[in-house]
Formats: sequence, structure tokens, C-alpha cells
Amino acid sequence: MARGLFCRCPACGKGHLFRAFIKVADTCDVCGEDLHHQRADDAPPYFTMMVVGHIVIPALVIVERVWHPEIWLQLAFWVPMTFALTLGLLQPIKGAIVGLQWALRMHGFATHQQ
Ligand SMILES: [Zn+2]
Repeated sequence: MARGLFCRCPACGKGHLFRAFIKVADTCDVCGEDLHHQRADDAPPYFTMMVVGHIVIPALVIVERVWHPEIWLQLAFWVPMTFALTLGLLQPIKGAIVGLQWALRMHGFATHQQ
């Protein structure tokens, strides 16, 4: 999972896990591990929303209670912050999920390991 979190191949830790932002490469470019077996599906956005929500909502409530900023200021800060955190965390979280599936030999990963 840690290798996936750093967007690296779960088998060797060196090859690139993604060929595009959240498109998993078919095979590792270093060790040749088949990565197309991954079935992350809706799990990465689900966990990303859960993590981002648990960061943004408490922080927003704390800022509101302590400083009472104007609504436009809250929106001007928290909306871009939500987008940035979502885009920043989606790929590592997907990588970690693919790494978990690889480690548990799910969805066909088992047939290609020793
Ligand atoms: Zn590899």
C-alpha cells in the first residue's frame, strides 16, 4: 500500500503505477508486473471524499467559530482548498488501493505471482 501511495509499482516499488492522472498502467515499466487486474472502481473517490471531508469540515467549523469570517471569504478559501485536496489525494489513495489489491492477490493478481 505504501508503494502505491507513492504511485509506484506494488511489486518492485520502482516502476510507475499510473500512465495518466488516475489511469493505472497495464504493466510495470520496470519489472513487467501486470497491473491491469486492479479493480479499484469507486473506492478511491469514496476514501478521498472521506479524508477530505474529515479535514475540511472540522477546519471550516473551527475557523467559523473562532474568527467568524465573511461567507465570501470562507467560500474563497474552502472551495479551492477542497478541490486541491481532492485532486492531490485521489491519485495516492488510488495507488494505495491498487497496492492493497495486489498485496491481497485480488482480482487476478494471484495468477501472476510466484
Ligand atoms: Zn514493478
